[in-house]
Amino acid sequence: MTHKNHELKTLLDDVNEGHRLTFDEAVSLFKTRDRTSFLIAAAADSLREKRCGEAITWVKNQNINCSNICVNNCGFCGFSCKSGDPGAYELTLAAIGEKAALAASRGVTEICTVSGLHPEYDMDSYLSVYQTIRRHAPGVHIHASNPMEVSYAARKSGCSTMEVLEAFKDAGVGTLCGTAAEILVDDIREIICPGKITTDEWIKIIKESHDCGLRSTATIMYGHCESTHDQVAHLSLLREIQDETNGFTEFVPLSFIHPGTPVYKKGIARPGATGREDMLMIAVSRLFLDNFTNIQVSWVKLGLKMVQVGLMSGANDLGGTLYEERISSSAGASAGEYLDPADMRYISGDLGRPLVERRTDYSPV
Ligand code: SF4
Repeated sequence: MTHKNHELKTLLDDVNEGHRLTFDEAVSLFKTRDRTSFLIAAAADSLREKRCGEAITWVKNQNINCSNICVNNCGFCGFSCKSGDPGAYELTLAAIGEKAALAASRGVTEICTVSGLHPEYDMDSYLSVYQTIRRHAPGVHIHASNPMEVSYAARKSGCSTMEVLEAFKDAGVGTLCGTAAEILVDDIREIICPGKITTDEWIKIIKESHDCGLRSTATIMYGHCESTHDQVAHLSLLREIQDETNGFTEFVPLSFIHPGTPVYKKGIARPGATGREDMLMIAVSRLFLDNFTNIQVSWVKLGLKMVQVGLMSGANDLGGTLYEERISSSAGASAGEYLDPADMRYISGDLGRPLVERRTDYSPV
């Protein structure tokens, strides 16, 4: 064993025994380029086993993206349109109600809804959507909105973000999406999403959400124009927030889907993460985020084969069935709009691990 490999092995053993990875250690793990990447994945997999057992979990959920009309032009987004553009759409409340009722009849336990920032939406528009979903799918958990939508609703309706969160909760929202985080480094946000809230605003709103009893997911979108240092800065912020609130239910790494996006077409972003980077993002986040139980691997972004590698590199959750997926497919993702539980069973069976249907809060169905 070389000296370098010996050092790595010692570090990974220390993490397994409870050492909290430092910023620089995480940067060096992300930069691993040779076969030692597999040592990191194996250590993360063993930590996964220790922290959450052998089960591979999934949730029966359905997406409803109410509109793709958006006032922003995020450079990584292939989904948004302006009013009147070909392909622009806006669901009526009646159509949203029908989709919610269909979801309930399929036995989903969770409906997810986020949309473009429609120029005519305000807080009441969002509330009407949640009330409609709740009416047509009683008892189904609503996983909705994100810090950007909360900030937008507050601005449009002249109230505080805390008031928006309380109103969303009263209207039936059960958990908040931890999206719109992208990379929580303002220099990068300026390049890929200058119209979005700043890092500080995202943190403020997510903490408010946790404070008012709305737990959330945590995400990262990686593989565009951020550095390894930026990735670790992002993970560090999430770890600090989790230390303070314990409000994150899971961490979901989202690999950048490049083909249909302005930042890629203009040559500003690279063509997404490589397989090595996808594997290491799962593994290093498992090792670094010592206060998270659940790491989800996104089939929408990675496809089933890479998802299985993720499940061997520290991830324990497969996410949801979705039924409808428009955001990543608009950017060029090819994994489809629905993941059949039979496919989940196939890959989990191949790993010799049990597949367990869960609710949004990770309790078994
Ligand atoms: S990522 Fe969201 S806010 Fe940005 S342009 Fe797309 S839909 Fe609009």
